[in-house]
Amino acid sequence: MAFEGLANRLQNVFGKLRSKGKLSEEDVGEALREVRLALLEADVNFKVVKDFIAKVREQAVGQEVMKSFTPGMVVIDIVNKELTALMGGTQSKLARSNRPPTVIMMAGLQGAGKTTSSGKLAKMLQKQNHRPLMVACDIYRPAAIKQLQVLGEQLKVPVFAMGDQVNPVDIAKAGLQHAKDNGNDYVIIDTAGRLHIDEALMDELKNVREAVQPDEILLVVDAMTGQDAVNVAESFHKQLELTGVVLTKLDGDTRGGAALSVKAVTGCPIKFAASGEKMDALEPFFPDRMASRILGMGDMLTLIEKAQAGIDMDKAKEMERKMRNAEFTFDDFLEQMEQVKKLGPLDQILDMLPGANKIKGMKDLKVDDKQMARVEAIVKSMTKEEKVKPELLNASRRKRIALGSGNSVQEVNRFIKQFEDMRKMMKQFSGMMGPKGAKGLKN
Ligand code: GDP
Repeated sequence: MAFEGLANRLQNVFGKLRSKGKLSEEDVGEALREVRLALLEADVNFKVVKDFIAKVREQAVGQEVMKSFTPGMVVIDIVNKELTALMGGTQSKLARSNRPPTVIMMAGLQGAGKTTSSGKLAKMLQKQNHRPLMVACDIYRPAAIKQLQVLGEQLKVPVFAMGDQVNPVDIAKAGLQHAKDNGNDYVIIDTAGRLHIDEALMDELKNVREAVQPDEILLVVDAMTGQDAVNVAESFHKQLELTGVVLTKLDGDTRGGAALSVKAVTGCPIKFAASGEKMDALEPFFPDRMASRILGMGDMLTLIEKAQAGIDMDKAKEMERKMRNAEFTFDDFLEQMEQVKKLGPLDQILDMLPGANKIKGMKDLKVDDKQMARVEAIVKSMTKEEKVKPELLNASRRKRIALGSGNSVQEVNRFIKQFEDMRKMMKQFSGMMGPKGAKGLKN
């Protein structure tokens, strides 16, 4: 998980603070020293860390805090607020022009994820009932145009291209005209990148900017490159006056430095965060949610939004009724897995649950396509009765199921055990809630 080291360290510091009834100035000083080290180790810009700690200290060492009932919590709250402020405070939304089309110019070094992010952004806009057009201006990287076209086909988003023998400025202008003629309300211009920043690249980008007057100039940077990403952002911003940053590869083991420093160093807000290669792996960036994720307070809001978009609430209610009445069958288990899969990679979901990263074993849970297929094959090899009554599954039946589903008996056993554990847990759960409990999914 991204930020794992930072999150663990900060959560340890705060665990100690929380357990103390009273705090002395030394306690706070000690905690802040550890926070400082944790941030530096996460590759947060040195000056940013210094300012950050100074701001927190100013608020945390006052009499008010020391006298409060829960001084530890107050300090954590201050850190949370300052982290949020560091990343820009409130969400920075994508611009929308009063005179469509809204023009978004995507810039960045090669390999940062520019073309992929263009596709993701187009998909996001399309979901919001917009009609984006993607324009292929990267005429240098081999296959960049083709890559955009393939993405366009996959997403059913039109792509405007003129091959690699036409000047990018002319392509951008013609693309914009094409959008106007065809009623596209957003134009996403995928520009060329280079391995390093150079004058020719900047000149070309400036010329494209001049020609199409974009409403947004988004710089795509790779979070895995840490402080380099911040330096790149700073250079681009100086020359191009960016309007926002798209931070990619947050699914890797980035230490977090880029996410925490970009806004503070460049003044330019992070507008989107990408955490995967798939087209739906782009989310608007919310500084407050990111701060609570880092501090282990979870990100329930994003989780709820994902659930609402991906989960069939009627099915969820029916499932809940079954769980309560212990009628949960193997078929239900399958369906449940399907639903969970729709939410995205399980380890990312777990990052959003408060405290979940502390639960041993949770991290190893995986619902991937391969496993889904295996479970599906096992369940499909069961008879109707077996699906409802797991107790029927004796050794010879298990052997039959293993053969029928192309799995080993051990795998079948492991799955049945998982299922039984889950059923047991549900029984306990519904017992705890009582017949009138479990009102969570009322409407
Ligand atoms: P460009 O040269 O900036 O246009 O970069 P691409 O869009 O071609 O992306 C470079 C590589 O990074 C590709 O293999 C992408 O699949 C991958 N990539 C892009 N965004 C992400 C992300 O958020 N997470 C991961 N893991 N890979 C990404």
